[in-house]
Formats: sequence, C-alpha cells, structure tokens
Amino acid sequence: MRKGNKTIVVTLLVIAACLIAAGGFFIGKTAGEKPLLESRERLYALNRASIEKMSIEESPVYVIGHRSPDSDTVCSAIAYARLLNLLGYPAEAAVNGPVNKETAFILSEAGVEAPPVLEDAAGKSIFLVDHSEYAQSTEGLEDAHIVGILDHHGVGTVKTGYQLVYEARPIGATATIVWLDYLNYGLDIDKATATLLLGAVLSDTVNLTGTVTETDRQAVAELADLAGITDVGAFYRALHAEALSYEGMSDEEILFSDYKEYETSGVKYGIGLLSVIDEDAARTMAARMKGALPQGFAAKRVDLMYASVGIRENGQKIDYIIPANEESRAYFEAAFPNYDEYDGTSYIFRNGGLGRKSKFVPGMTDFLSAHPHE
Ligand code: MN
Ligand code: MN
Repeated sequence: MRKGNKTIVVTLLVIAACLIAAGGFFIGKTAGEKPLLESRERLYALNRASIEKMSIEESPVYVIGHRSPDSDTVCSAIAYARLLNLLGYPAEAAVNGPVNKETAFILSEAGVEAPPVLEDAAGKSIFLVDHSEYAQSTEGLEDAHIVGILDHHGVGTVKTGYQLVYEARPIGATATIVWLDYLNYGLDIDKATATLLLGAVLSDTVNLTGTVTETDRQAVAELADLAGITDVGAFYRALHAEALSYEGMSDEEILFSDYKEYETSGVKYGIGLLSVIDEDAARTMAARMKGALPQGFAAKRVDLMYASVGIRENGQKIDYIIPANEESRAYFEAAFPNYDEYDGTSYIFRNGGLGRKSKFVPGMTDFLSAHPHE
C-alpha cells in the first residue's frame, strides 16, 4: 500500500516537473528568440551556411546548361553564376554552343553578352543547370568535378560520389528556382538579371501556359517589376517571334536548334524540338524535317531519332512527331499508340500534345524500361 502511494506521488511529481519545464520552454520561446520566419536574416544565414562546404577543387566553378542551349539554360547559368559570385564563390557562366535567336534577343534586352563556350569539362569544377544527362552535356563531364545541379527535369545519368548542392523542383523553369534561391539567400536581383530570368521563365513555360506552378507566376510578376517591363505579353510575343523565326537556317540547323539526347536501357534516342504558329506551318515544317532527319540521324550516335513540331498558340497544344526511319517509327508507334492521326509523315497529337519533358521522354523511359533492346 505505502509503496503504491509512493509511486503515485513520484509520478505526480514527475508530471509536475514536466509541466513546469514545458511551460518554461514555451515562455522562453515567446520571450526570447523570435520564431524563424520573423527573422529573415537568420534564414538567409542558415541557407548560406548550408552550401559553405561546396567543394571547389578547381577554380572557377563553371555554371553550364545543356547542349543546343535554350533561354532557360543560358539565362539560368548567367544568373546563378552571379548568385555564386555574390555569395563569395568564384564562378563563371558558360555555354555548350551558340545561343539561339530567342536567347540572343533576351540577352540584348538585358544588355548582357552571351557566355563563352566551354569545349571540355574534364578536370574542371562544374555546376550544372537545367539538365543532369551526360548525353546532353559538355564533352569531358565524366571527368569533371560536379559541385552542384539545379534542375526541373527527371534525374539523368550524371553521377558523383561527392557531396554536392542538388536542387530540383517540379516547376516551370530552372530560372524560377534561381529566382527562389536569390530570395532564399537574401540577395538583390539587378535589372539585367531580372530581365534574363523573366525571359527564361516565359520561354520555358510558354508564357505561363505550359508546365507551370504558382511559384513561376509569382516569379514572372516580381521579375517583370524588377526588370521595369510593364507589358509582359508584348515582351513574350517579341521573344516568341524570334523563336518561331528559322530564317536563314538550314533544315539540319533547325532540327538540331533545340535537340536533346536520352538513354534508357541501353537505347539512345534524340528529339529535336521545333515551334510553329499553326497546323499549315506544322505540315510544311514536318515535310522539311522528314527530308533532313536521315542525314541528321547519320550524324549522331543514336539508335532512334525524332523531330517534334509543336504549336503552342492561344492555349492550343498540338505536336507533330516525325520519326527518322522505320525503326524509330516502329518504337514510337508501340510506345504511343494513342495518337490522333498519322498522316504518313507525322504522328499528330491534338489533345494536349506530347510535350518532350512532360510526356514524350517519360513515355519513352517507361516503354524502353519495359521492353529492353535485344
Ligand atoms: Mn532547357
Ligand atoms: Mn528548362
């Protein structure tokens, strides 16, 4: 009996002690340090400290996107190299080849020069943006020191055993992640950087109609403000007109102007993306690509190749997929039996299209994983 009472007393004392301790803790919290979100400086400092172990063996860090550079790749590389500089890291933006007409327009609006071409990444410190696929990257990347990846695609083939900054989000543009990082690290975005990032987000999200999140929308609103661009629609139409203009380019240059390679289960395939204004233009361009594809296929070391001619006007999403040869055609038809029409040249997708990042590559990955090459 006495032993039982003693146990109860001890239990009550323990409970009382816990309540006093907990009360003290909460009182201490409210009276003492501010909650995290009220202290933005603390959040910036924590974010900055989280990347301080970024191991830079060879200086500088080259910030570089994918081959056939698009506006998101080029503008994100420039803006992220600036971010690293502001944080005290030696970094330079680079590209894999000449910039396209749309990117050249955005760069000139921003008053920024195109970054230099990096021919060979071997032995260099590399921060990848907008991809993580060897087949899409600079020569020598297998022998480079990868210090970071910033991306909005699926996980590619790039590997490293070292610790790295690795940030990917299911979002409209890498440039939006760059914008978010400026906020997270507490850095100012100057007018030129805002113009670059705005152009990149508008380009990759097709003026906020493609793959897009509320974060991309907020980025566009804030970046337009910082860039001093009041008519975002006009800015988009101007850069989009450059994207649709293939004037002075050969059919093969057009095929490879936004071309990417992928590999699944040992099968390598390439997809060249093109944009046109309507279905008449799509049929004309598809015929040109059908003519250019055999030579283009012969020039690359891939097993399958496609051109994808897309219409993204007034909310429409239509894609014409042109296979390079019979094997590419047979694989495509097996992987994507739900096309709306095959006109002898193109597989046509009229209801929502077959976006390269959102549908084409995921579908090929699923199909090739389930049907390995013999
Ligand atoms: Mn890209
Ligand atoms: Mn992108």
